Amino acid sequence: MSESLPEVTDTKKTKKPTQAQLLEKLGLIEDMDFIVHLPLRYEDQTQIYEIASVAVGEYAQIEGSVVHQQIVQRPRKQLQAVIRDQSGELLVRLLHFYPNQIKQFAVGNTLRLRGEVRRGFSTAIEMVHPKVSVAGAPLAQTLTPVYPTTDGLTQPMLRKAIVSAFERADLQDTLPDNLRKKYGLIDFAQAVQDLHYPAVEHNHALMNQTHPAWQRIKFDELLAQQLSLAAARARRAKLKAPKIPLSTKLHTQLATQLPFKLTTAQQRVVHEIALDLSRGQPMHRLLQGDVGSGKTVVAAYAAVQAIEQGYQVALMAPTELLAEQHHQKLQHWLGPLGIEVAWLSGSLTAAQRRKAYENVQNGSSQLVVGTQALIQEKVVFEQLGLVILDEQHRFGVAQRLDLSRKGSDSMASGSKQTLLPHQLNMSATPIPRTLAMTFYSDLDVSVIDELPPGRSPIQTKLLAADRREEMMDRVHHAVTTEGQQVYWVCPLVEESEALQLQTAVDTYELMAQQLAPLRVGLLHGRMTAVEKNKVMDAFREAEIDVLVATTVIEVGVDVPNATIMVIEHAERFGLAQLHQLRGRVGRGAKQSYCILLYQTPLSAIARERLRAMYETTDGFEIAQRDLALRGPGEFLGLRQSGQMLLRFADLEHDQVLIEQAKECASYLYKQFPSIAAEHVARWLGGKEEFLRS
Ligand code: ADP
Ligand code: MG
Repeated sequence: MSESLPEVTDTKKTKKPTQAQLLEKLGLIEDMDFIVHLPLRYEDQTQIYEIASVAVGEYAQIEGSVVHQQIVQRPRKQLQAVIRDQSGELLVRLLHFYPNQIKQFAVGNTLRLRGEVRRGFSTAIEMVHPKVSVAGAPLAQTLTPVYPTTDGLTQPMLRKAIVSAFERADLQDTLPDNLRKKYGLIDFAQAVQDLHYPAVEHNHALMNQTHPAWQRIKFDELLAQQLSLAAARARRAKLKAPKIPLSTKLHTQLATQLPFKLTTAQQRVVHEIALDLSRGQPMHRLLQGDVGSGKTVVAAYAAVQAIEQGYQVALMAPTELLAEQHHQKLQHWLGPLGIEVAWLSGSLTAAQRRKAYENVQNGSSQLVVGTQALIQEKVVFEQLGLVILDEQHRFGVAQRLDLSRKGSDSMASGSKQTLLPHQLNMSATPIPRTLAMTFYSDLDVSVIDELPPGRSPIQTKLLAADRREEMMDRVHHAVTTEGQQVYWVCPLVEESEALQLQTAVDTYELMAQQLAPLRVGLLHGRMTAVEKNKVMDAFREAEIDVLVATTVIEVGVDVPNATIMVIEHAERFGLAQLHQLRGRVGRGAKQSYCILLYQTPLSAIARERLRAMYETTDGFEIAQRDLALRGPGEFLGLRQSGQMLLRFADLEHDQVLIEQAKECASYLYKQFPSIAAEHVARWLGGKEEFLRS
């Protein structure tokens, strides 16, 4: 279903990936990527320890002779060998082994072993599956790095790739001597050398990041970030947008028109946006608010401020379903204020569409609602003042960047206007602060951190799939006795869209039969916009009790009377997606429930996702956990963006460095733009806009 953009979670790989693909998976493409792929920890292979001197839990390298060997049944066959040096003995255990290993550990052989030392049963200490090499071979000169890796990519492979990147890469310092001195920084080449191949005595300082190499790497990263922020700000400062003064008339009229009072948080963000609009620079603001926090009405306030001054407003939603819902709602709120709300839909006839375009072009349509594709295509505005993007995280990152940066002028092209429109992005997926500050560097952020009053928190229940029948009974009961309305979300079938559709249709038929005489509806991505809207309207009017749906309902759909959300095969969905789906209920005063039906066995990551859903309804917390589970690149739906995130420095703990980097950035940016550009190029690669400006 084109609108549902299923997230890829646990796809099975059929073909074995190449080494280059595996490296790319880790973000390792350019030489510099390898240089800053830093070790997780180090192994000390520079010396041989005496057996008596090593402690449980330590990683150690020892040498000794095999004095005893046996194969025991415990309960499966395992190979045991006792190794002795002049100081003591240690047991080696191989839980699975090959005939040549029996030979390797033959009594009398002298071996070098590396591994973690553990507490043993029979002997005091043991090693399980140690690395074995020839005794007496030369020792390593530096600590041996252990890198973060991915399945199929071994440490030796990674080490080799990094060594060869070191041979090729240009590690010349980007910072002049005087600045290095000023901030007490060591040389860049020295820093990365120390981080990858340190002397033994630096292990501790490297692990707790007090080593000067860490200071340097963090400083450089922060400097690159600050420089690109400075560039983004400078770019923005040059742009011009219409000055739209605070509303004197329509804001008040809208307030009396609404059936509710704005929450304090809504009032605050309405004000923030109003001030942005009144400045002569394009607003570029992200409005974050958890599902159900009431972002639409904030958009309405922004829209009327622009409309009051004679500007047009475009509101874009990622799906037609959502665009239609916005159209209805805004028509309802703004129609009585005498505002002309137009809807651009894929289902308009050619003649209707021509007429709609005409009304946009001659300015009689003041607010235009539609999907992004429809609005962007060929529409020419008479005087576009504000663009609002709902559920902006659903738009591709490329589209987003495009829209927010250059897109805005293309929207205005063709019209007589030379000013850029203001832009408001709305999203229910909270972006953790650290990400917002880096990835969305030239974006201001407003947060609605409060839900409208009278909502009781949604109760989430996890239910094994074999209790589906029981769940159906409960649904039946809830509808008949309490008049509740239910969403029943069909499982994602990633392999095939046809199969997914089939599943939805089958589920619908089964439910219609089993739940009769309840009224069951069906909604999926292959239906036309007209069909979808008809179903949604019927559900909204409570003419449908149970709505069987695919993830087309994931974003934005608002039917406050629906109180039960059942999600089948919840283990197949991503965390953000589950949270969005759950957000379809809990929008009214009645107690709402979200039932996650899951199929065992659960993968570790699926288990964590379900646990997170069970433990919290807080979107911010969910986003943090999602970030932890998926990593920043995937979290933003874009691996490449990983380059723009902070990997080494920490916004909380490295305050001093941040201040220094800020100061240094503003100096370089003004006095030595070429040094600044070089530094940003090293850290952010060619993708950074800095280079273009
Ligand atoms: P979201 O932030 O998820 O887009 P919506 O804008 O769809 O949320 O709002 C969710 C529901 O809450 C809607 O039915 C909306 O009319 C209602 N709502 C919004 N603000 C308030 C408020 N201040 N008081 C009561 N209900 C509100
Ligand atoms: Mg919404």
